[in-house]
Amino acid sequence: ASWAGGRPTRTSTYPEPVSTTSRLDLPAVNTPSSGALSWPDLPAAQQPNWPDAVALERARAELAASPPLVFAGECDVLRQNLAAAAQGEAFLLQGGDCAEMFSAATADNIRDRVKTILQMAAVLTYGASTPVIKLGRIAGQYAKPRSKDLEVRGDVTLPAYRGDMVNDFAFTEESRRPDPQRLVRAYHTSAATLNLVRAFTTGGFADLRHVHEWNRGFIANGAYARYESTAQDIDRAMKFMAACGVDFDALRTVEFFASHEALLLDYEKPLTRIDSRTGLPYAVSGHFVWVGERTRQLDGAHVDFVSRIQNPIGVKLGPTADPDEVLRLIDRLDPERRPGRLTFIARMGAPRVREKLPALVERVDRSGAKVVWVCDPMHGNTFESTTGYKTREFDDIIDEVRGFFEVHEALGTVPGGIHVELTGNDVTECLGGSEKILDADLEKHYETACDPRLNHQQSLELAFLVAEMLRS
Ligand code: PEP
Ligand code: MN
Repeated sequence: ASWAGGRPTRTSTYPEPVSTTSRLDLPAVNTPSSGALSWPDLPAAQQPNWPDAVALERARAELAASPPLVFAGECDVLRQNLAAAAQGEAFLLQGGDCAEMFSAATADNIRDRVKTILQMAAVLTYGASTPVIKLGRIAGQYAKPRSKDLEVRGDVTLPAYRGDMVNDFAFTEESRRPDPQRLVRAYHTSAATLNLVRAFTTGGFADLRHVHEWNRGFIANGAYARYESTAQDIDRAMKFMAACGVDFDALRTVEFFASHEALLLDYEKPLTRIDSRTGLPYAVSGHFVWVGERTRQLDGAHVDFVSRIQNPIGVKLGPTADPDEVLRLIDRLDPERRPGRLTFIARMGAPRVREKLPALVERVDRSGAKVVWVCDPMHGNTFESTTGYKTREFDDIIDEVRGFFEVHEALGTVPGGIHVELTGNDVTECLGGSEKILDADLEKHYETACDPRLNHQQSLELAFLVAEMLRS
């Protein structure tokens, strides 16, 4: 059954979700913009300077009055699935754009991104011999933390682009002015995106037999001959299932979840709701949200925010993360040690993962916490190409994933998944891969609004390589 549609089965090891008692102790203050919740006033890094307080309040009120994008029950299912990943009984594939753009939320783009993730998941399911949890960086990934508040080009200085939820990518004063109405547009674009994702993944498009045919098309390109034997193994497994008459629903539909960085609290807080089943708060902007490397301060507003919601949550950990700090994060975010609640997304960089990750994993393991360890091989491997583009080298990305597996192998702990920036399109943003994208190629199709993404082919190649790592 695990092969079948990647629908992670609930094993008896994990109890059904139980609601916890109210350690949250939230005052039941009903303000129009916070949807029955109030929040302590803590320092929040990386928030825009909204120029118009009245417009901001209007946008927040509109969000607070809008229907949820996801249901709390779905978030609980994802948490159950992640609990399995923490134990090595499932594997997480989290992927999508670095920064989604409103203009890119077209049917074709959404279809191709979902298709890429499904194709990768089919290969990884074979590699892991466990269900693969499909979690898009999608339908909400509209806000970006920036290392500099301002962007300078020639003698013009303007506010940095902070994602379509805040301002526009175009380098003009007008475009870069933060506009709170964009919060509302992000909500509606996320709703439309999620609607199509749900249609694709439950309406027959995601049938594993189609996905397998697409993968055969990929392998037919001679550049990928080295993956031929894995592809043939999968082919044999498919034929075996067909011969057995396997034709159940799990092959036809997949569970697909949505995630994004919970960065903009003016978006997330109005989209936090009390779940009528449990009386507890959930972020309803996505199934899973994470706190980024730049906003994970223990006394900051972001950590406080995710500590109060019941969703499964993630925290990025870069090379400066210290084991004591990580244990304090666990105490804040998962005091009850609920399996699947907390995911650490390590983004160390290929040269550092083997040196920095072991101390963190070891300390967390010794503490008894059951977190999901995920490898983000993108954000520690970014550099500027000789031609002036922000880029990443395919081999560095693979090397970081390899290092991640080695660390877990040596410690006897569980590598729970990967987190990648990808697109279904034929872009030229990351260097290398079997099609050998070179510095000089970057300018051809460099389309990202923020970080460089693996293109469709590079994403599939990564999946085949990770499948090999999982099998060895
Ligand atoms: C991101 O995921 O796009 C990002 C900004 O990552 P990090 O917080 O790890 O730098
Ligand atoms: Mn990024």
